[in-house]
Amino acid sequence: MNKDSNKSSQKDKKRKTELAVFIRNLNLFLKEQGDNVHLKKLRGREGYYDPATEEIAIDYRKEFLSTLVHEVIHHLHPYWSENKVVQKEREIMNTITVRQCKNIIVMVARYI
Ligand SMILES: [Zn+2]
Repeated sequence: MNKDSNKSSQKDKKRKTELAVFIRNLNLFLKEQGDNVHLKKLRGREGYYDPATEEIAIDYRKEFLSTLVHEVIHHLHPYWSENKVVQKEREIMNTITVRQCKNIIVMVARYI
């Protein structure tokens, strides 16, 4: 293995570990505050996170999973900029496996 591929596999490993932590935090959020996740028709946005009420709303006509991931990142990292949240959302959506997607959908379906 050359130096570059070693570096990229370390990066992959880091992403997978961070993803596992994110999914654990997502599951904890749903267990504790799943009743705060609502499906709605929204104007001009796909979802929102309200830090005052800790409500997450998702427009059910749009991309469900990436919007949920995005809003949960806002919940977990209230001081991150929108750009950083979008970047993390993309990274998670590119790393997540089919099985992890299924588990999240099953988990969130209990509450919405
Ligand atoms: Zn956002």
